[in-house]
Amino acid sequence: VAERLLLLGPQVSETRDGVRIKVMGNIEFPEEAEACKARGADGVGLYRTEFLYLGTNEERTEDDHYQAYRKVIETIGDAPVVIRTLDLGADKVPGSMRQMFSTGDNPELGLRSIRVSLHDQTLFKTQLRAVLRAAVDGDVRIMFPLVSSLIELRQAKMILRDVKEDLEEQGIPFARNTPVGIMVEVPAVALLAEDFAREVDFFSIGTNDLIQYTLAADRSDPVVSKYYNSADPSIIRIVRMVVAAASSRGISVTVCGQMSSDPKFIPLLVGLGLRHLSVTPQAIPEIKEIIRHLTIPQAEEIASRAQQLELARDVETFLRGELNKIC
Ligand code: PEP
Ligand code: MG
Repeated sequence: VAERLLLLGPQVSETRDGVRIKVMGNIEFPEEAEACKARGADGVGLYRTEFLYLGTNEERTEDDHYQAYRKVIETIGDAPVVIRTLDLGADKVPGSMRQMFSTGDNPELGLRSIRVSLHDQTLFKTQLRAVLRAAVDGDVRIMFPLVSSLIELRQAKMILRDVKEDLEEQGIPFARNTPVGIMVEVPAVALLAEDFAREVDFFSIGTNDLIQYTLAADRSDPVVSKYYNSADPSIIRIVRMVVAAASSRGISVTVCGQMSSDPKFIPLLVGLGLRHLSVTPQAIPEIKEIIRHLTIPQAEEIASRAQQLELARDVETFLRGELNKIC
C-alpha cells in the first residue's frame, strides 16, 4: 500500500469535484525537502528552523542559516517555502542557551518562540538577514510562531524592516517583498483573528499548540494526555473562526499542526473551508489520496454534522466512520 501511495504522490491533490487542495510538507532539517519533493508536495508549508540549534552546542552564524535555507529552496524549486523563525524554548532548548530559559517552572507558558526572538534581537536579526538573502532565489515566506498580541507582531515586523534597511545600506542583495504571516496557536489570536488578518499576508494554524492552550493540557505531559484532544468541539469551533476571519480579509490559511496529518480530520478540515494543508512528509500521499476521494459538498456535510456533536469522543467516532465510507 505504501508503495502504491508513493507512486500516487506526484498526482495533483484535487477533490473529486475539481477543487485544488494544496498539500505541503513540514520539515525540521533541509535534507527533508527531498522527501517532500519525492512525495509530490506543493512546497514546504512549515520549516522548523530551530532544529538548526538543537543537538549542538555551537553558535550558528548567518551563513549557517543561509546555507540551510538555500538547500531547501534549491530542492523545492518554484513552490513556496514557509520559513518559520526560531521556535525555541519549552521542549526545544539548545544546551548553549539553557541560562536564558532557566527561570520559571512552566516553560510552555514562559519565554519561548517569538518571545525569545524579541528578547534576543541579535539572534533574531541574524536569522532574518539569512532568510531575506536566501529568498532572492525562491518563493519564500516568513512566519512568526506563537504570536500572542498585535504589539508583538508589530515589533517583529519592525525588526524585519530594520534588517531590510541594514541590507539595503550594505548593498547586499535580498528579497524586498517577502510575504509575512503568523502561526495561529494562541487562543487570543484566534479570538482576534480579524484584527491580525489586517496586518499579515497569511495564517497557519498550529493545532499542536492551539489545542494545548485551548484545553489547558501540556502537549508533552502524558499524565494529562486524555485532556489533550484534537477532536474536542472547541477545536472545531476555533479553527472555523480563524478560517472565517482569513476569508473575510482575503488572506490564505493553512493548517500545519499534527491534525492535518491525521486522515480522519481531512474531510472535516476541507469542509471547514481549508484549501491548504501542511503535513509530515510521510503522510503526503495518503492525505492526497483522501482528498481525491472527496467532494466539497460531502466534506461540508461532514463538517456541519461534526459541529453538532457535543463530545470529543462522539466527534472522533463520527469522523472515523466517515473516513471509512470515503476510502
Ligand atoms: C503547532 O504548534 O501546531 C506547530 C505546527 O508547531 P510546533 O509543533 O513546532 O510547535
Ligand atoms: Mg507550535
